[in-house]
Amino acid sequence: MPEELSARKSQEGHEWQITEKFKETHDTYTYKLFPVSKSQRFDFSIGQFVTVSTLLKRPTTSGGLEENLVNRAYSIASSPTRDFIELTIKEEKPYGYINPVTGKPDAFAAYFNKQVKLGDKIRLKLNQSKEHFLWKVAAGIEKNVAYWSGANGAQSARSLIQYMEDKKDPEFNLILFYSNTKLSTDNTNNRYITNDGPHPIDSLNVIYYNWLIDVAKKLENLKVIFTFTREQEIPPRSTKDLRIIYRKGRFFLNPDGLPERTLLKYGGNVETSFNPICGSSGFINGIVRLPDGKINRGKGILQNLMEIEGVKPEKTDKEQFYLQQVGVNQ
Ligand SMILES: Cc1cc2nc3c(=O)[nH]c(=O)nc-3n(C[C@H](O)[C@H](O)[C@H](O)COP(=O)(O)OP(=O)(O)OC[C@H]3O[C@@H](n4cnc5c(N)ncnc54)[C@H](O)[C@@H]3O)c2cc1C
Repeated sequence: MPEELSARKSQEGHEWQITEKFKETHDTYTYKLFPVSKSQRFDFSIGQFVTVSTLLKRPTTSGGLEENLVNRAYSIASSPTRDFIELTIKEEKPYGYINPVTGKPDAFAAYFNKQVKLGDKIRLKLNQSKEHFLWKVAAGIEKNVAYWSGANGAQSARSLIQYMEDKKDPEFNLILFYSNTKLSTDNTNNRYITNDGPHPIDSLNVIYYNWLIDVAKKLENLKVIFTFTREQEIPPRSTKDLRIIYRKGRFFLNPDGLPERTLLKYGGNVETSFNPICGSSGFINGIVRLPDGKINRGKGILQNLMEIEGVKPEKTDKEQFYLQQVGVNQ
């Protein structure tokens, strides 16, 4: 990017400061940010995302480091009723990843998570699209929500859950269908970092796992259905946690490999439920990029909802984080 353009771009958006950094899993952090001044604050709605811009140093093939202004989109993971913003940032590409076509490093998250510290100020630009993800929920048009999340995709559900905690609106009802490959403990040295210093925490590989269990115990209008697609065993369920359900395998497939009406099975009303889907292209609609670069079109949650459950298209919504590549991170 030419220097002048880069300088102008770095002035875009609003300046917010990082006050907390929470390690969710081995490759994912949640950041809490406050505006640096009143003039930098902006209002937002459930489901909106911001573009984060920051200078990052990335290793080059020649062994050096190159600093550039880099941008990525992140869904706001906290409620608009709170005076801060939280963002959860998961690394997809590994540290040091070099794009084979350009020969340059082009990842964001691994460098952001390593280089950005408490007290740092970063630029956030709110996406202004009117019909953004979950806009019908934000506008109060849809209150009976069945949210379908891939392993990285529950951020807007977290915003909605916090909103439900704050508003205590008895008309809101959320079933979170949350798909992960497995449940395992990270044996990295986890730390919850605040201004008082680091605090040890237990951490698993599922983003928001412990928080979701705690909040589902408290909120009567929240149910969480965890599925583990590659797990042999599922965690034992406490009889006290009535609104937390564990299952194995893919949604819409029963243990015999036959089609299953997952929404209906776990108490969703097929006529009235609004079904946002968030995650990779593969999770949403079965579209993946093969190792040879070709695009393969399969079926995802969207097709299953319509074909197996009979959900109408207007009762669905989607936010795609990225195009899923087959053969990496699997
Ligand atoms: C509207 C929107 C909202 C989003 N919200 C969030 C959010 O809240 N949290 C979040 O974590 N992300 C979110 N994302 C995705 C985010 O912008 C980044 O893509 C993500 O954090 C991964 O960053 P990265 O730097 O690791 O990879 P990127 O440079 O962004 O590249 C991602 C691509 O890399 C591919 N990839 C994965 N593994 C490898 C590998 N080993 N080698 C090569 N390529 C690989 C992926 O398949 C994907 O296509 C959102 C995206 C959009 C469009």
